Amino acid sequence: MSKEQQISQQVNAKTLLPGSTIGVLGGGQLGRMMALAGTAMGYRFITLDPTPSAPCGQVAPQIEASYSDEAAARKLALASDIITYEFENVDAGVAALLESESHVPQGSTLLYTTQHRLREKRAIEAAGVPVAPYREITDLQSLSQAAEELGLPCVLKIATGGYDGKGQAVIRSEGGLEAAYRELAAAGRELVLEKFISFQAEISVIASRSPKGEVKSFPVSENIHVDGILHLSIVPARIAESIQREARKLAERLAESLNVAGLLAVEMFVTKDGELYVNEVAPRPHNSGHYTMEACATSQFEQHVRAICNLPLGDTTLLSPIVMVNVLGQHLEEVVKRTGVPDNALDEFGVVPKLHLYGKNESKIGRKMGHINLLCKDVQHALDWIEQTHIWRQG
Ligand code: AMP
Repeated sequence: MSKEQQISQQVNAKTLLPGSTIGVLGGGQLGRMMALAGTAMGYRFITLDPTPSAPCGQVAPQIEASYSDEAAARKLALASDIITYEFENVDAGVAALLESESHVPQGSTLLYTTQHRLREKRAIEAAGVPVAPYREITDLQSLSQAAEELGLPCVLKIATGGYDGKGQAVIRSEGGLEAAYRELAAAGRELVLEKFISFQAEISVIASRSPKGEVKSFPVSENIHVDGILHLSIVPARIAESIQREARKLAERLAESLNVAGLLAVEMFVTKDGELYVNEVAPRPHNSGHYTMEACATSQFEQHVRAICNLPLGDTTLLSPIVMVNVLGQHLEEVVKRTGVPDNALDEFGVVPKLHLYGKNESKIGRKMGHINLLCKDVQHALDWIEQTHIWRQG
């Protein structure tokens, strides 16, 4: 978007006051927490999701239909003053239809960009922000050549549709190239090869931008993944403050350059030398931003609503150290037992556990069922609390 177009976007930006209805494409936990935060601000919500009684559908009216159902999308548009989405793999036809029939401040261009790893990397580079060196892979021969250029180990990823570490393979030797290619190229998927970044930490920053051009970022979260799924967010991150400042600057620059309206979650690697590489971005609330619900003056969900409605953005100050731990299906029973029953043995850690459950109909191993925000004086106390419960020891 040119500078002139940007200025005209800012001048014509529509402000939606409380009382307006926000339509959410997708009725999962992100939509639910957005609706809970936005309802407290005086907004109304309606969601579209194929799963009966979806997490967001339990707190707002739900249109039960497939995401690609254009008639249902039109019904959502008719019932809403503004449309947002809680995931990025929105059908292009539906996104275009919603844009033409309703007010979609996030637009569809950013969705198009972030739905494809190559387009996403090019857009990040165009903002002058570094990504891990990568190559487009078109066949086995181009994979061999790219692996030689980038060096091993490297990571082969499908360009579209991967999530939570799925659809990717780490290649450690030349002998592993063909098997990784055969596994991931099935069904004609486009592929991208990345240099393996030996990181000291994985971090993320949630940036927000309103259509009138105000930009703010939340404090850096240090993220620990287990089996490709986020396990912990630790805030403040245990990395140098100068790196944290730089990370927030990069995220804010990306939000501006990508013309974001709403949130942009930016995941990064921090190398041993303190260099930052952006791994991926998501134009929506993010699991690594759940800590803001208790630890920041404004939660990421309130901020998203403020941003898309073109209200002044909220204060993002961190009010307390915090650790967020995800509750997966295999953790649910013990977690509910523990947090429902005061446990004296754990009092010594001086942490305040705040449990959030998403109301999912069925619990499965690896499925995100909720999270606990552990407010603490020092993040080590919360990490000790998690260790002492024994709940998360087995994956
Ligand atoms: P992604 O689906 O791209 O978020 O990747 C899932 C996880 O795989 C990341 O959180 C990292 O732990 C790891 N990973 C992905 N890409 C790389 C890379 N280029 N170098 C090192 N680790 C990676």
